[in-house]
Amino acid sequence: MPTFLRTQEFDKLLVAFRSAELLAPNALKATSDIQRTGKCNKQANSSMKQNVPNGKAIKRGDRLLTEKPFAFVLQARYRKERCDNCLQSCKVLKCANCQYVYYCSRDCQMQGWVLHKIECPFLKRIYPRNVPDAARMLCKLIIKLDKGGDLVRGYYTQTCSRRFRDMMSHYAEIKNDARRLEHLESLYGVLQEMMGDSVIVPNLTELTSIYGRLITNGFSILDPEMNSIATAIYLGVSVTDHSCKPNAVATFEGTTLHIHAIEDIECLDWSKIFISYIDLLNTPAQRRAELQANYYFFCICAKCTNTTETHEMLAAACANKNCNEFLDINLNNCPRCDAGVSPKHRNAYNEAMTITKTHLEHMKDIAYLDVCKLCLAKQKGYVHPLNVWHLKTLDAAFEAAIDVSKWEEALEFGKELVPGFRKYYGDWHPLLGMLHLKIGKIQLYKCQLTEAINNLKEAQKILQITHGHDHSLLREQLKLMLAQALAESL
Ligand SMILES: [Zn+2]
Ligand SMILES: [Zn+2]
Ligand SMILES: [Zn+2]
Ligand SMILES: [Zn+2]
Repeated sequence: MPTFLRTQEFDKLLVAFRSAELLAPNALKATSDIQRTGKCNKQANSSMKQNVPNGKAIKRGDRLLTEKPFAFVLQARYRKERCDNCLQSCKVLKCANCQYVYYCSRDCQMQGWVLHKIECPFLKRIYPRNVPDAARMLCKLIIKLDKGGDLVRGYYTQTCSRRFRDMMSHYAEIKNDARRLEHLESLYGVLQEMMGDSVIVPNLTELTSIYGRLITNGFSILDPEMNSIATAIYLGVSVTDHSCKPNAVATFEGTTLHIHAIEDIECLDWSKIFISYIDLLNTPAQRRAELQANYYFFCICAKCTNTTETHEMLAAACANKNCNEFLDINLNNCPRCDAGVSPKHRNAYNEAMTITKTHLEHMKDIAYLDVCKLCLAKQKGYVHPLNVWHLKTLDAAFEAAIDVSKWEEALEFGKELVPGFRKYYGDWHPLLGMLHLKIGKIQLYKCQLTEAINNLKEAQKILQITHGHDHSLLREQLKLMLAQALAESL
């Protein structure tokens, strides 16, 4: 499943919290679909590197910014399989005192100790219960701010910087948002239990503004396979606004965030640089609702204001098999070929869409291949091949087939997914690059060498732009696979 860039994990946490997570240590079930991460990337203090000088023209693929997080937490479900400091997936050893956090090495433990020595007794107090990620993040932010964090600056140009307090708190919106207030209240309860009457616990007004900055500026840190593994606050990068048609993209190497340009841009002006906070494989109405609910703004980007996209994303297939019109199911005839839209055709489309939405909703965490195939069978001939619900089903089917090692089927779904990903994510998106990489990897395994080389080269072309030549995904995984495919094809 595609993962969102800005973090939206907190609603899940709220559900987990409501279901008495604090009383049931294993309430947040670990999912086992996580693959290996990239190389160990040591966490330093929040710092940033600007890669393009002011005023210089920007080329597609240029790295605009590199930044270390101001604060971050590994998701609780990975705490026994990933290092709390570098996020690497490997053999980890637990902190002997709190028994809660795990590290890959003495080195990482030492680096994490600056903050962890204050957090450690708080975690110990409520051990063996799991701490909701948002509560742990708030706790870390409180500690960090108490330790002079408010003076830390994240530079996004040589002279412009942001501090934590420069980020918008959305205080007024949160005060009027019952869902958020309830969430905050439950987190406050956890914090009180963890931190007791510690003098550093802020009053509710102060906590609300920290919480507001966290939920609207938090990033999900993604592993190379694009799974969300941690939540983080980056100061400098928080200046970047959203667009559903972005000209830049954020990718991660360990905890380090990189912003790369995916278009040529006249010069480095951060008011004209946009990344996407959300999944773009959704209709404008869905995207706007999501942005409003999570970030308190109404999107007026070029894509959201264009009605064609909604029409295409929800299109039916024309009854005429040779016609590829994005058909509006409510019309009586196809505007392109004039084929009639029968009530039977309309009913079949509606039924396929309803069934698909219901099943995909149920399979949010884990997709089952047979259920995906059932939806695809219902869609065939009625739902347009570029309808987003068809693409979501294909995506789920692709991942499910990989999970059960059905390589031939996975290849079929993956290849069918490419045009849809390209259409809605754009030519330079990490998910499109990763799709080509996964297809190429399977083809290499199945000794379909020419196709494997083509897909791996396509992956390389895209990922060089979105991740940079020096990213471990290219240096380690992709380069080796391509070398192997080339050697075997001789
Ligand atoms: Zn580590
Ligand atoms: Zn500890
Ligand atoms: Zn938009
Ligand atoms: Zn037609």
